[in-house]
Amino acid sequence: MKALQYTKVGSHPEVVEIEKPSPGPGQVLLKVTAAGVCHSDEYVMSLSEEDYTAQGYPLPLTLGHEGAGIVEELGEGVEHLSVGDAVAVYGPWGCGRCHQCAQGKENYCVNAAAEGIKPPGLGAPGSMAEYMIIDDPRHVVPLGDLDPVQNVSLTDAGLTPYHAIKASLPKLGAGTFAVVIGTGGLGHVGIQILRALSGAQVIALDISEEKLDLARHVGAHHTVISDEKAAAAIREITGGIGANAVFDFVGAKPTMALAASVAASEADVTIVGIGGGTVEIGFGRIAFDAAVRIPYWGSRAELIEVLDLARSGQVSVETQRYSLDDAPAAYEALAAGAVRGRAVIVP
Ligand code: NAD
Ligand code: ZN
Ligand code: ZN
Repeated sequence: MKALQYTKVGSHPEVVEIEKPSPGPGQVLLKVTAAGVCHSDEYVMSLSEEDYTAQGYPLPLTLGHEGAGIVEELGEGVEHLSVGDAVAVYGPWGCGRCHQCAQGKENYCVNAAAEGIKPPGLGAPGSMAEYMIIDDPRHVVPLGDLDPVQNVSLTDAGLTPYHAIKASLPKLGAGTFAVVIGTGGLGHVGIQILRALSGAQVIALDISEEKLDLARHVGAHHTVISDEKAAAAIREITGGIGANAVFDFVGAKPTMALAASVAASEADVTIVGIGGGTVEIGFGRIAFDAAVRIPYWGSRAELIEVLDLARSGQVSVETQRYSLDDAPAAYEALAAGAVRGRAVIVP
């Protein structure tokens, strides 16, 4: 079968021919129907040889941590799934036994690292292939009649902002302001989640007018170019008070500094992007009682919830399709900032 693999540190991902896997006991084989292209893959492929190895990534690595598929074959003992079922893949695999996993929060599993459990596409073979193995049937969620290509990215570009935003909802009633920095794959879904679930006015920031156009298209009330004048613009929009929640989908030094500087008292400053930034926190550096969070992905229950938001028409992903043969071009487009919404690979 064909797969998109990262084969050598510092190289570009390439389409290769590998053996079709077969499911072991308790596993599920999916025929992949769609796989989303996430900026985190670029982060992984930007690591030095030393950091790549230290973080436990294998070579070759079949990419793709947003996946959807049709159940092709069930391993021995798998129940409650049938060949032909359409599913979305829950990516942050955990042990399934610890206190966090018992709550569906496998994204915060306490045993995954020690037991070498890795998400598909970020260690285990991912979704950018004709077929993929799911280690346990609890790691898929029924798609029902949701279109896989339109909705595959909800497994990360939807789930991650959903998890980030849900915890801040008590602070986002009517009359409040939420700032979204970076309106790409995650950010443009984040804006829609804020519109669906909160009373906040949404202020969206990006570095390009095209991205801000998408932000307005998906419901942002205000758009601001992300430069040195942005903090003043946000102060003005919020009547001098600042934002009640800031979601930084870039996570670079300037965006994190901006995020902290526009937080109102008791705001949540949530850094989702992994752009390598840091920010100094201390008395006088951020508003009183502001909280800084660094969330990761989301829970199994939240994936079901975000798919329900799509089902009720409250969230939709702007997608650009590529074939598996053209997948390297999708990564080039992402690196060039030329993807509107999310690039999706359709094997
Ligand atoms: P993307 O490339 O689709 O979107 C990033 C957007 O940020 C683009 O629109 C870009 O123009 C914009 N941007 C870049 N620099 C900016 C700046 N200085 N100010 C404002 N906007 C700027 O990326 P994505 O796939 O949406 O991922 C966003 C980030 O989230 C990445 O760092 C990714 O690795 C990370 N991520 C984190 C998690 C998590 O669990 N914490 C999960 C998925 C992705
Ligand atoms: Zn991702
Ligand atoms: Zn666990």
